[in-house]
Amino acid sequence: MKKKQNSSPTDKIDPICGMKGTIPAHGHYFCSTHCIKKYEEQHNLSSIESCPACTIPAKKWYKERLYIILIILLITLIITLHLQSTLQYMTQILTPLHILF
Ligand SMILES: [Zn+2]
Repeated sequence: MKKKQNSSPTDKIDPICGMKGTIPAHGHYFCSTHCIKKYEEQHNLSSIESCPACTIPAKKWYKERLYIILIILLITLIITLHLQSTLQYMTQILTPLHILF
């Protein structure tokens, strides 16, 4: 049996120490988690264990939700006002038609 080699060996080289990498992470192959942590430190990437970037978008989403709620409230107010005016308009049109037929 022959082993299939789809990717070239240069693709699986640890960018930190230059050794053969076996652990895929951040589009590279690393020999150990120590090298992954070093790579994350060099490229300002956050690891899975401590994710400060994960909490920032959550706070942003909360702020956006408040805006969305305010927009929805405004839209509902506009719709209700518009519906009242359209209903009045409709009754104004429909009443003479009702008399005719
Ligand atoms: Zn390494």
